[in-house]
Amino acid sequence: MKFTQSLADVIEPAQVEQIMHAIAQSDQIVITTHLSPDGDALGSSLALYHFLKKKGKNARIIVPNSFPYFLRWMKGTGEIDVAEYHPEAARHILLHADLIFSLDYNIPKRIGEMGPMLEASPARKILIDHHPFPGDSFNIVVSHPEISSTSELIFRLLFQAGLYEELTQAEAECIYCGMMTDTGGFTYNSSNPEIFEIISLLLRKQIDKDAIYSQVFHNYSAERFRLLGFTLSQRMEIYPDLHAALIRLSREDQAQFRFNKGDTEGFVNYPLSIRGIIFSTFIREDEGLIKLSFRSQKSFPCNEFAAAFFNGGGHLNASGGEFYGSFEEALHAYAEGLKKYEEILKRSLEAV
Ligand code: 5GP
Ligand code: MN
Repeated sequence: MKFTQSLADVIEPAQVEQIMHAIAQSDQIVITTHLSPDGDALGSSLALYHFLKKKGKNARIIVPNSFPYFLRWMKGTGEIDVAEYHPEAARHILLHADLIFSLDYNIPKRIGEMGPMLEASPARKILIDHHPFPGDSFNIVVSHPEISSTSELIFRLLFQAGLYEELTQAEAECIYCGMMTDTGGFTYNSSNPEIFEIISLLLRKQIDKDAIYSQVFHNYSAERFRLLGFTLSQRMEIYPDLHAALIRLSREDQAQFRFNKGDTEGFVNYPLSIRGIIFSTFIREDEGLIKLSFRSQKSFPCNEFAAAFFNGGGHLNASGGEFYGSFEEALHAYAEGLKKYEEILKRSLEAV
């Protein structure tokens, strides 16, 4: 039985045609995504990868650095190249590609050392992303900050190209994973009714959404849980008047709990569960830099905060940045930031 469903043409139909044409004309196709790939980065990349392989293309995915254990269940993760481990191979692959997809990031800086390799490549470049402010390094730019995940955009691309019928279960699983993780399991940024129409279409491909939820959210190590408990009880500051909360972890703290990559994923969301907290920050001392994550509710622009003080960016309610200096200096910069945003933060609870 053929199932018909209409969805808005979010991607310009002419772009869908251009992208399908570019794919048809290319053989060596490379998919790239951002540093510390998350569920949406990998979900969108793998869905597109499976589609391209199905079409007989020599497709590859190159990510800048590795990704956490709880995303490894997705089909194809074993075939992903990690540039950090093999930088020369990554350079070679990018330089010899016919077509490069940039998924879930807006500018080459977000892929770290792969950025200059991408810029140097003569390949055609297609950006498909939902972060604001797309860069100008691409031949085709599909940028939709109003869409909650890049994985949803990949679904829409295939759907609009009339390829829903041939979408596989594996592709559907990867798309669902990206849509689910970028919306916190459909708890924020997910009120567009078409999201649920798409979920319905994915479920028709026999995906098990409950199993996917468990794979991602019930797949942590005991150490991560103990680290979370420690962080919330010993390393959290609340600024009630400012509706702000800070959690922080030094390298020493992390070593004490045998920190593994991905262990702190999602920590920044917890303080938002506290009544009255609108702005949450997580400052983590990493090797050679300090990494910051921001989350907000309502209209507080945590991406502006990230850009103003931590050379970062992202979405209105979910952003990140980095700081080069000591851990204490990063904490100081955050305190200065709070001062600058004091008036806006004080009023943030009332704002819509
Ligand atoms: P997370 O806190 O989950 O690492 O990142 C949240 C959001 O902020 C993501 O959409 C991510 O793309 C963006 N983001 C994270 N770190 C950075 C950064 O250093 N620079 C910029 N521009 N965006 C970031
Ligand atoms: Mn995303």
